[in-house]
Amino acid sequence: MYPLPEQLNYASYRMAKANYIRVLIDRAIHRELDYLVPETLAERVGVGSRIRVPFRDKSALATVVAILEHSEAQGLRPIEAVVGDAPALSEQLLELARWISVYYCCPIEAVMRSLLPQVIRRAEIGWKKQLFVLPTRKIDKEEIEKLQRRAPRQAELLEAISRLEAPVRAADLLRQTSLDNQTLRALVKRGLAEMREEAVVRDPHGDEQFIATSNLVLNAEQLLALKEITQALDSPESARPILLHGVTGSGKTEIYLQAIRAALEHGRSAIVLVPEISLTPQTVERLKGRFAEAQDAVAVLHSHLSEGERHDEWHKIHSGRARIVIGPRSAVFAPLKKLGLIVVDEEHENTYKQEEAPRYNARDVAVVRARIEKCVVVLGSATPSLESYHNGVRGKYRLATLSQRIDEKQMPLMRIVDLRQERRKEKAIAILSEKLRAAIADRLDKGEQTILFLNRRGFSTSLLCSDCGEARNCPNCSVALTFHRRVARLSCHLCGHTAAVPKKCPACGKDALIYAGFGTEKVESTVAHIFPKATVRRMDADSMTRKEAYRETLRNFRTGKIDILVGTQMIAKGLHFPNVTLVGIINADLALHLPDFRAGERTFQLLTQVAGRAGRGETPGEVFVQTYTPFSPSIQFARHHDFAGYFEQELEFRGRCDFPPFTHAVLITVRSAHEGRAKLSAETLVRRLKESFGAEFILGDATPAPLEKLQGQFRFHILIRGEAIMRLSRLVRETLDKLPFPEDVTVTIDVDPYQLL
Ligand code: ADP
Ligand code: ZN
Repeated sequence: MYPLPEQLNYASYRMAKANYIRVLIDRAIHRELDYLVPETLAERVGVGSRIRVPFRDKSALATVVAILEHSEAQGLRPIEAVVGDAPALSEQLLELARWISVYYCCPIEAVMRSLLPQVIRRAEIGWKKQLFVLPTRKIDKEEIEKLQRRAPRQAELLEAISRLEAPVRAADLLRQTSLDNQTLRALVKRGLAEMREEAVVRDPHGDEQFIATSNLVLNAEQLLALKEITQALDSPESARPILLHGVTGSGKTEIYLQAIRAALEHGRSAIVLVPEISLTPQTVERLKGRFAEAQDAVAVLHSHLSEGERHDEWHKIHSGRARIVIGPRSAVFAPLKKLGLIVVDEEHENTYKQEEAPRYNARDVAVVRARIEKCVVVLGSATPSLESYHNGVRGKYRLATLSQRIDEKQMPLMRIVDLRQERRKEKAIAILSEKLRAAIADRLDKGEQTILFLNRRGFSTSLLCSDCGEARNCPNCSVALTFHRRVARLSCHLCGHTAAVPKKCPACGKDALIYAGFGTEKVESTVAHIFPKATVRRMDADSMTRKEAYRETLRNFRTGKIDILVGTQMIAKGLHFPNVTLVGIINADLALHLPDFRAGERTFQLLTQVAGRAGRGETPGEVFVQTYTPFSPSIQFARHHDFAGYFEQELEFRGRCDFPPFTHAVLITVRSAHEGRAKLSAETLVRRLKESFGAEFILGDATPAPLEKLQGQFRFHILIRGEAIMRLSRLVRETLDKLPFPEDVTVTIDVDPYQLL
C-alpha cells in the first residue's frame, strides 16, 4: 500500500508566505492576473500551486506562476482557496510550459491543459476510500467460545479478526469467510471489532505478475554506449543529449534499463517515453520485470486509465513514490522530482508529435526539459530522424552507435520484388508475388512464422464505376471511401463517415461498379485462401477494437498459434518474436508518393523497422519488399541496411530545397466551411506576414492543402521556413493577433509540422 495522502511529505516545497501572487487562470484570457493571499492561506501557497480565485462574477481555477513582493494592480481581490496539498507544478515545469507556449505559438493556458491531467486540474476526484477491519483489542479464546453459543457466525468472524496482524479490507475478509456485513456490524456494535476508512490506490497493473530479471552482460558496443550515459549522469550540468543509434535487435532496451538503474543509484528518477503504450507491451514488461523488486516505483501512464487511476498514478509520481515513469508523449510532463534521465525510445516516431494544440513534439520537449532540469536525455532509434542525426553529426548531440545485432545475428536479407515485371507476367495486380508466395509456403513447411505488412486498412480502397469513371467519395472530405467487407460498408478513414454500398453507380445509374485497390482485410482473405491450412490473423485498427484483442493476438502469435500475421503500423514497432523469419512488405510505395518532404524518410524508416522484425531468433530472417519503384533511394538504402548512405543523400536533398533540418518549418492552415472566405483569409494573412518578415524567412503562397476538404471544411496552407524559429514564432503570433478573421474561419499554426496534408 502507498502512503495515504495526508502522510506525504511536502517539506521540499518553497512556500510563499507572501501577500501577493500572480496567477494564470485556466480559461484563455491571454494575460496573468494578480491576487491577494489571505494570512490564513499564506503558508500553503507556492509557485505552481493550484488555487481557486474570484474572476469577474464567478470563481475560477488557476495556477500560481509567481510570488510577488508587491503589485501595481489596483483593487486586488483575495484568493478563495488552495486546491490540493502541495504545488502541482514545479518551477521547472512552469518554465517548460512558457517555452512550449512561445516555441509552438500556442496560448499558455492550452499548454497548461497538457501539463496537468484534467482530473488533477479540476480536483474533483479524490482517493478511493475503502473500509478496513481490525480488532479493537486483543481477543482471547474464551471470549470467542462464549460468543459461539449465542451467535456462532459472529464467533467465526471474530476468530478470523482476532488473528489479523494488520487491518484488512472488510470486503476481502467477508469474502474469505463467506460471512456477511450484518455479522461484521454486530461485532463492531459489541465493541470487539473496528472499521476504519482508508484511502487505497487504484492500481491498473495490480493483478499482473512480472518476472524479475537482472542486468545482462553487455557487449563492447553496449558498454561504450552505457558509459556515455553514466558519464553524463555524473556531470549532468554539462551533458549534451545522447543519440543512441542502434540497428534493430542491437540491445538498445537493455541499455535503457541499465541507465535507469544508474540514475536511481544517483538518487534520481527517470522517464521513458514510448511511441504508444498499448503498442509497446513488451517494453513495459521488460521495465516492470527489471524493477520488479520495487513494483510501485514504476508508474505506467496510458490513455486507457480511468480518471481515478489517473489521479492515483499522478499522485504516486508527484509524491515521490514512483521513481520511474513510462508512457506516451504526455509522460514527458510527469511531475517527478530530481529527474535524472529521460529516454525517448524510437525517437523518430511521429506519434511524439501532438496533432492538436499545443502541437508539441515530445522528443524535442524532452530535450528542453532535460536542459531546464539539468538531467540527461537519451534519444534512441534504429532509424533516427534526420533532425536528430544531423544534430549528432554536427556535435550538438553525442552520438553512440550499436552497429551489430546481439550475438552477431545477421541483419535480415532484403529482396526486392519488382511489381512491374510481376504484372507483365501475371496480367493482373497480384497481392502476393510468386516469390513471396513461395517463401511463405516454405516457412509454413518449416513451422516458422511470417509477418505481412501493408500500410492501409480495409478491403478495397475505392469503389469505381467502370462506365463513367466516378468514384465514391466522402461527402465531407476529398478522399475516396474504403470498402470494409466484414461490416459490408463504405467508410471514410478521415472523418468516420460511413455509407451503404450502392448496387448501381449513383452517378450514371449503370450496373458497372468495380472494387479497386486493396487493404489489409483483402490481404488477409487472399492469404487465407491461398494457404487454407495456415492460421492467419489481422492486426489493424479495425480488427483491434477491443482493448484486450491486441494482447491476445500478440500472445497467440508468440506461442505459435498464429502462422501469418497481417497488419498495419501496429505490427511495425518494437515487437520481438524470435520465430519470425519472413517479413513481406506488400507495397513499399504507399508512403513514398505522398506530397510531403519527409516521404522518402518515412519510407526508409518504415522498411527498416518492419524488416527489423525478421530474424531476431536463431534462424536468419528474410524480407521481401514489393514495389513499383525498385530503384528509389529509400528502398535501395534500406535494402543494404545503409543508414549513413541514406542520410547523406537525403540531407543533400533537404539542403538543396531549404527544408528541415536546415530550416524550421511552420505550417499555417486556414479553414472554413466557406471556401471563398478560407481562401481570402489565407491570402490576406500571407500579405501581412510578408510585411512583417522582410527577407529573413521563406514564405510560400496560400495554396489549397493536398487534402483540400476535411470534415466539411475547405483548407488552405501557408508554409514558412526559417532558421530563427523563436523569432519566427513570435512574428507569426503577433501578426495573427492583429488580424481579425471572420468567425467561421479557423487558423491553426503548426511549428515543426509532421502532417503536411
Ligand atoms: P533493440 O531495442 O535494439 O531492438 P533489444 O533490446 O530488444 O534490441 O534486444 C534484442 C534482444 O537481445 C533481446 O531479447 C534482449 O534481451 C537481448 N539482449 C540485449 N542485450 C543483450 C546482451 N548484452 N546479452 C545478451 N542478450 C542481450
Ligand atoms: Zn470523410
